[in-house]
Amino acid sequence: MARRLDGKVALVTGGGSGIGRATALAFAREGATVVVADVNMEASEETAAIVRQAGAEAIYVHLDVSKASDVEAGINKIFGSYGRLDCACNNAGIVRGGGLTHEHPEEIWDRVITINLKGVWLCMKYEIPRMLAQGGGTIVNMASVAGLVGGASAAYTASKHGVVGLTKTAALEYAQQGMRINAVCPGAIRTPLLESAFSRRPELEGRYLANEPVGRFGTADEVAESVVWLCSDAASFITGHALAVDGGWVAQ
Ligand code: NAD
Repeated sequence: MARRLDGKVALVTGGGSGIGRATALAFAREGATVVVADVNMEASEETAAIVRQAGAEAIYVHLDVSKASDVEAGINKIFGSYGRLDCACNNAGIVRGGGLTHEHPEEIWDRVITINLKGVWLCMKYEIPRMLAQGGGTIVNMASVAGLVGGASAAYTASKHGVVGLTKTAALEYAQQGMRINAVCPGAIRTPLLESAFSRRPELEGRYLANEPVGRFGTADEVAESVVWLCSDAASFITGHALAVDGGWVAQ
């Protein structure tokens, strides 16, 4: 039976852990060759090994999404290996505390914005020309419910609202050139990122759970499914959309 991404080459940044790892596996299940890009070599090699065990081809590309030279070299490496890139999930991101808006240390602001927002822009900057040259492609940027409503820390919220805005503008710019560009906005998903936030601030666990109308945390697989669907032809008329995968969080 034909799978949704048969013959495609799919990149996921932050593929060493959590939502990125689940997305790498979901891409593989749907027939894609998978490129796992991350700063964490050990974790990403593990993801690539899991993908290979599942029967798909995978390579690891070491890159820091906040460094233009890394991203450019990473995209060049993908083209050197496979000659194309059909799907990209720009997922790498971090959470840092920092207190209230006026309490944020400047270095936390800079780090969160640089990785979460500039990182997504840099990935698109090097993915888009290559995709245009081959006739098109699909991009899914990982935002958050914090890209749709306030409530999380200032830098994180600003970075994710930025990702949603950036996604919409890019989607409009390339809409007639075979490109579809969307964002996914997860609610509270039980991953190492959330676990580390809970270990720093245990009161968050009950607060986040109370914000989930479905009464439970989401799974990385549930987010990965939405990424694969947006990358597939099933979503052929969808671009510039910010899809909440959030158990109803922003419906409240
Ligand atoms: P995670 O911490 O489990 O995984 C993040 C991965 O990104 C790690 O492998 C890490 O090494 C990598 N990474 C971090 N900085 C990087 C950089 N500069 N360059 C390349 N790779 C880098 O996190 P997760 O929960 O899977 O989150 C993935 C994305 O989903 C993030 O953008 C996050 O903001 C977003 N998100 C997560 C949740 C949630 O509840 N977990 C909710 C909404 C949005």
